[in-house]
Amino acid sequence: IEEVLYRSEKLALVGQLAAGVAHEIRNPLTSLSGFIQLLKEEGANPMYCDVMLRELERLNSITKEFLFLAKPAQPNRTYCDLNTILFDVILLFQTQTMLQQIELNVDAIRDVPLLFCDENQIKQVLINLLNNAIEALPSGGKVTMSTFFSSDDTHFVVRIKDNGIGISKDRLKRIGEPFYTTKEKGTGLGLMTCFKIMELHGGTLDIKSDQDHGTVVDILLPMVKPSKEI
Ligand code: ADP
Ligand code: MG
Repeated sequence: IEEVLYRSEKLALVGQLAAGVAHEIRNPLTSLSGFIQLLKEEGANPMYCDVMLRELERLNSITKEFLFLAKPAQPNRTYCDLNTILFDVILLFQTQTMLQQIELNVDAIRDVPLLFCDENQIKQVLINLLNNAIEALPSGGKVTMSTFFSSDDTHFVVRIKDNGIGISKDRLKRIGEPFYTTKEKGTGLGLMTCFKIMELHGGTLDIKSDQDHGTVVDILLPMVKPSKEI
């Protein structure tokens, strides 16, 4: 037992250290983008500036995801209306889906009981999963979001289905490993973040895929009575 304790203490220390570094990296990133913005306004080549700003944005989001994974914030749970969350997220994707001619369908239950969850964290899960679905599509593909109760009524399910490239059996095994990505510009942190958030909510993520035909991801959120803590 002592050995195990010792190891988990060491792990916690590494996590703390990583979180500290990630946190310290974010401030200089912010000041860099501020100054690049200034250079652009002063007449520096705007194309170069935009590339730098985009890359900084990428660094920022990787650091943010990494910070969360190294030191996950406990969910700040309140009773949320899931449909409001869904429509907020869909709004974020509207321009992108229009430009890429992607059909985004929603088939949501109208009267959903309030769910006890951290609104921002659940939004993050939906955003990461929708990004993956869209990135898996050929142009003109289709993504469908639907909601329903699990067959045993213990969970509320948000399903995100795409008809994209799918994931082979071998790859499916590695999904959710840190930094596992098949994309040139991927981070391989998106799904790990989703798994962590679902774990913190006492829920799960269920991924099924058919290579070359598409992927179905189910977000299972537990239905919790007002007084019960997970
Ligand atoms: P990233 O998107 O940065 O690569 P993720 O953790 O979000 O990292 O996803 C890890 C990998 O899982 C992706 O690189 C991709 O190979 C696979 N993947 C995830 N979602 C899908 C999907 N809807 N369709 C096909 N492959 C997917
Ligand atoms: Mg991703």
